[in-house]
Amino acid sequence: MYDLLEKLTDFRTEVRAFCEENIAPHAVEVDEKQIVSTDVNKAINAKGWWGCTVPKEYGGLGYSNAEYVVLVEEISRVCGSTGLTFAAHNSLGTYPINTFGTDEQRLKYLPTTCKNGDLIAFGLTEPEAGSDAGGTKSKAVRDGDHYVINGTKSWITSAEPCTVAIVTARTSDEGGVKGISSIILEKSMDGFTAGKKENKLGCRGSNTAFLHMDDVRVHESQRLGDEGLGFKQFMITLDGGRISIGAMGLGIAQAALELASKHAIKRKQFGKPISAYQAIQWKIADMATQIEAARHLVYGAAYLKDTGKPMTKESAMAKVFASEVANFCTYQAIQVLGGDGYSSKYPAERYYRDMKLCEIGEGTSEVQRIVIAREVFKSVSKID
Ligand SMILES: Cc1cc2nc3c(=O)[nH]c(=O)nc-3n(C[C@H](O)[C@H](O)[C@H](O)COP(=O)(O)OP(=O)(O)OC[C@H]3O[C@@H](n4cnc5c(N)ncnc54)[C@H](O)[C@@H]3O)c2cc1C
Repeated sequence: MYDLLEKLTDFRTEVRAFCEENIAPHAVEVDEKQIVSTDVNKAINAKGWWGCTVPKEYGGLGYSNAEYVVLVEEISRVCGSTGLTFAAHNSLGTYPINTFGTDEQRLKYLPTTCKNGDLIAFGLTEPEAGSDAGGTKSKAVRDGDHYVINGTKSWITSAEPCTVAIVTARTSDEGGVKGISSIILEKSMDGFTAGKKENKLGCRGSNTAFLHMDDVRVHESQRLGDEGLGFKQFMITLDGGRISIGAMGLGIAQAALELASKHAIKRKQFGKPISAYQAIQWKIADMATQIEAARHLVYGAAYLKDTGKPMTKESAMAKVFASEVANFCTYQAIQVLGGDGYSSKYPAERYYRDMKLCEIGEGTSEVQRIVIAREVFKSVSKID
């Protein structure tokens, strides 16, 4: 792992400098005004990062997952909202089209997003199907070589600004989760609309809204893979997505550690910098140690993905651990800053609000533990 992290050092230095210059200055406004910053999106687009993991033949940069994780970590270190928008677009938008799409679908959607930074959303969650996403109620009813789709998707990242969305819908009432398919929809299609933006606790600049499908008529060539593969596809997609949510937690935790450490060195009480007190040193030491452990889990899972090895358990571990480390570190950062930590004068409170998404999105911490335990039980039964 140290080898991998070392190889990424120069890349991280370049990415960090870019984020400090182009994203950090907008972070407060993005949060306060709850906006997706066009300046930020354009700057990311100029680097070609909206298509960072898309293969070069489809207009992308063909980055490895480890490089992608550096991007999510560093973007989230300066702005959680942008980190979430970025991670959702790449892990849940371009990834399924590239992985499960036909060549025609790849050519239709990937080069445009790589060139223009058009956002792609992923519509899985529904009002009645959250953790239990297999309980999808949206329906795609066949009409010749078309489907007519009806249903509602909730909590969808970039629902409003996206131009394209991959949605899951039931193409058959039989077969349980085997009756679910994935279909690519375009925002310009009749009957496909976004609802009102959610007013959230954190990641406020990342757009989240309902997606409504009212008699959306779509040709069967928009289906991703065969009928009935939707559930399997989104499980695979989420395995990868969870690594990026772990990376997001890691970036926010790192920002909290840096802020708390700098403050502790500067702030004097009882005639000494508070960094001289053991109570503060222990907080900093625990934050740094947990971040290091989280970094190994997150990059370890990215390495497994890059080398084509199974990583369902490892990506769930990376997500649950890194997001809980982010919770711990942002909480402690507020404590180290005292009253200043409780105020919007400093970003500690924003870090605390932004990180909470990491314990919920792409499967809650409880769901990650279900996934990990299932994998552990499977491996133990193999020993017998
Ligand atoms: C900001 C944000 C962005 C999002 N972006 C997207 C997106 O782009 N696309 C998308 O499809 N979805 C998205 N989501 C939805 C997200 O994936 C769901 O919120 C998440 O999966 C949890 O579902 P839920 O909110 O319905 O909670 P519920 O499933 O109702 O869970 C409520 C509580 O019950 C617990 N629980 C549920 N089942 C079990 C169980 N079997 N055992 C133990 N505990 C359980 C949960 O862990 C949780 O604590 C987003 C959510 C947020 C907040």
